[in-house]
Amino acid sequence: MTGDVNAVAGGLLRDLAFVQTSPQKTFGYKRAASAVLSLERPLTELRLGDGTLTRIPGIGPASSRVILELLDTGISQTVERAVEHSGRSEEIRTRRNLRTHFLSRAAVVGVLADPARAGPKAADYRGDLQMHSEWSDGSPTLDEIVEACVARGYRFAAVTDHSYGLKIAGGMSMAAAAEQWAVIDRLNEATGDRFRLIRGIEANIGSDGQLDLSSEEAAQFELVLAAPHSRLRKNDDQTGRLLAAIRTPHVHVLAHPRGRISGSRAGVIAQWDDVFAEAARHGVAIEIDGDPARQDVDYTLAARALASGCLFALDSDAHTTHQLRYADIALAHARLAAIPPERIVNCWPTDRLLSWLAQRSG
Ligand SMILES: [Zn+2]
Repeated sequence: MTGDVNAVAGGLLRDLAFVQTSPQKTFGYKRAASAVLSLERPLTELRLGDGTLTRIPGIGPASSRVILELLDTGISQTVERAVEHSGRSEEIRTRRNLRTHFLSRAAVVGVLADPARAGPKAADYRGDLQMHSEWSDGSPTLDEIVEACVARGYRFAAVTDHSYGLKIAGGMSMAAAAEQWAVIDRLNEATGDRFRLIRGIEANIGSDGQLDLSSEEAAQFELVLAAPHSRLRKNDDQTGRLLAAIRTPHVHVLAHPRGRISGSRAGVIAQWDDVFAEAARHGVAIEIDGDPARQDVDYTLAARALASGCLFALDSDAHTTHQLRYADIALAHARLAAIPPERIVNCWPTDRLLSWLAQRSG
C-alpha cells in the first residue's frame, strides 16, 4: 500500500514529538499526529484554494507547516533538521522501520470504499471476536457491549477478557469467568435469535508456548484466543513458541500473532510461513487485530497466511465500545490481502461459526 499520505504525515509528527525537549511540545506534536492519523480523508483533499490547510482540530500552526512541506515536496526539511539536531537519528531510524504497513484511518476508509478491491466488504462482516469488558482491562459492561454490537448490525460477538495468567491486564479468575458466563447466558436469553454473545477468553502464551489455562479450563470457553504478551522485544526466533500454542487443544485463534506496536516494538520474530502452515493444518485462525497501534498481522503477512491455506479472524480488540470501529482496520487489511470472505470466520453465519467453535472445543 503506497501513498498513505496521512500515515506518512502522522509518522513525521511523531518523530518531531520524540525529539522535543519540552514536554509541552512533545504533547502538542503527538496530539497533532493522532489527529492526522484519525482523519477520514487524505490531507491532499484538505487544502484550500490558497494552498493552506483546512483548520483541523488538534493541529496547530507548526504541525500544519510540516504537513504542507510534505504535501509540496514529499519530505519535511523541518523534521529532518530537528532529528539531526537532536542527535537521535539512529533511534528515529529504528522507529520509522517499526511503522511499516500501518494504515491511517483515511487509508482504511479508502480501501473499504474501493470497489476494485477483492476481499470482504463491510456488509460481509457479521461479528467481532476479540473485545474486552470491565471483567478484565476493558471499560464497558457486557450490556453495553451487546447494545453497541447490535447497533453495528452484528449477529454475534465474543467477549474475550484476559485469562488469569495476565495479572497486569486484570486477568479473570475461573471463578469470575463462571460469574461472567451467567451474565452472558442472561443476555443471550434476552436477545434471542437476533444476537449471540460468545463466551471467549484471551489466553496468554507463555515463553515456552504453553497457555496460562489448563486444557480443562480452556475447554469451558466457547472461543479461546491465544496471544503473546511477553518476550516481544527479543531478537531470537520464536517459531517453536507459536507452533506449540497452535498445537494446544481448544485454541481457535492465534491473536495479534506478532505483538508489534507501531513505532516502538517489532514483536515476535518467527518463520511465519511455518507458523501459518501449522495453523492451516490445525484449523487455527490467524487474527488480523484492528487496534490502530497493532494492525497485527498486516496485509503483507496476511497474504502469506492466505497462500498457506489459513482461516482468519478479523477483530477490533476493543477496550471501549467506541473502539469497536477498529474492526474496520482489520477489514481493510483483509481487503488489501484479497482474503475471500469464505476464509474469514467473522463472515460466516452464526450457526456455522458456532459449530466450528464447538468442534474445536470438543
Ligand atoms: Zn492481547
